[in-house]
Amino acid sequence: MTVTQSKTAHLLHLEQTYDSGVYNKHQIVIAKGKDALVWDTDGREYIDCVAGYGVANIGHSNPDVVAAVIEQVQTLMCLPQTLPNDKRAEFLEELVSVLPKGLERVFLCNSGTEAMEAAKKFAITATGRSKFVSMKRGFAGRTLGALAFTWEPKYREPFGDAVDNANVQFASYGDIASLEAAITEETAAVIMEPIQGEGGVRPADLEFMRAARRITKEKGALLIFDEIQTGFCRTGKMFATEHFCNPECPGKETCVFGALEGCAAPDGMTLAKAMAGGVPIGAFVMSKEIADKMPKGGHGTTFGGNPLAMAAGLAAIRFMKREKLWEQAEAKGNYFMEKLRAIPSSKIREVRGRGLMIGVELKEKSAPYIHALEHDEAVLSLQATPLVVRFLPPIVISYEQIDQVVAAFSRVLESVNPKG
Ligand SMILES: *Cc1c(COP(=O)(O)O)cnc(C)c1O
Repeated sequence: MTVTQSKTAHLLHLEQTYDSGVYNKHQIVIAKGKDALVWDTDGREYIDCVAGYGVANIGHSNPDVVAAVIEQVQTLMCLPQTLPNDKRAEFLEELVSVLPKGLERVFLCNSGTEAMEAAKKFAITATGRSKFVSMKRGFAGRTLGALAFTWEPKYREPFGDAVDNANVQFASYGDIASLEAAITEETAAVIMEPIQGEGGVRPADLEFMRAARRITKEKGALLIFDEIQTGFCRTGKMFATEHFCNPECPGKETCVFGALEGCAAPDGMTLAKAMAGGVPIGAFVMSKEIADKMPKGGHGTTFGGNPLAMAAGLAAIRFMKREKLWEQAEAKGNYFMEKLRAIPSSKIREVRGRGLMIGVELKEKSAPYIHALEHDEAVLSLQATPLVVRFLPPIVISYEQIDQVVAAFSRVLESVNPKG
């Protein structure tokens, strides 16, 4: 064994020995990242189409975020939200500037699942109701409250009655009749992803979203979009919500928020992942009417809105705006999907997605292909349901790197024999 090999083996051993054991660990140790690349402790370079599950939209170690973080750690790192802070104030203004009109209040927290918990509490106080509608195949996070909205039984079943499922109805994603049947006068909110990620990369269709908007309005329920994975340019718009705008809409400046026939603008959105360029952060953003109904002290978090995350988030959102990153996601995503569709392999059932949130559904289990991509081709990809290979690269990925990933994928489609 060489020195580096034994060091890697030792590090793997430490993780295996001391980690709780809940994760299925890969057999590599990643030590460094830059833009769309990461390197392991043996110096091997990978194209990263995992991007921290869609966190690294603006690239690993984005220079703007790095500079902002370095400055902020030397200035002030922690501060509770009862004490106003310069970076927090500026971040809030910057965030609201990119949100769909009508969403103008922000509850800051530290992760996606916390954003879901906040959405739940704000929906309850805003409506005086406590029942929810979520979607089959939906994913909403792993804390007990968010878990109740997560469909996949294997995530919920080990915890039995502790998961608050009695108050959650699951409708079929894309099925208007099923949605209509699930929403009642007791529904506080319908919560769903505009494109299901974990559920296999499934975009919602416009008619379904419009129906969701219309029915929730009729029944006095809120419509909340989980944009934790789809937000911040991933799908070719700043938020996937914008795919459901009425084409007649005059745009954000004069948007009349849901007033136009067919507009599916939500009452709230949960955000996290890419919002601070890699630093942990989460938020529930909502209308003023929803925020006003929460009593003072009704919710809170110690780390939420900390100056470090705020400085990182400010730099990240400014980078996205300056680079028009949503346009890059749209153009690169279309290019990527076109190339994937051109792979002449009978193993591919469907290539689908939006922007750089891409799923390739195979006719067989995807795991061996994901493993071969990593092992043989140094490309990191992600599973989404047993049959789907998911690509969520940093949006700063180059066209040349996309070409390399597609070439690698077509090679593993040839080389892997699933029957052994
Ligand atoms: C990642 C994710 C979550 C959970 O976010 P965490 O930060 O992991 O708690 C919730 N909803 C969706 C759609 C996600 O992709």
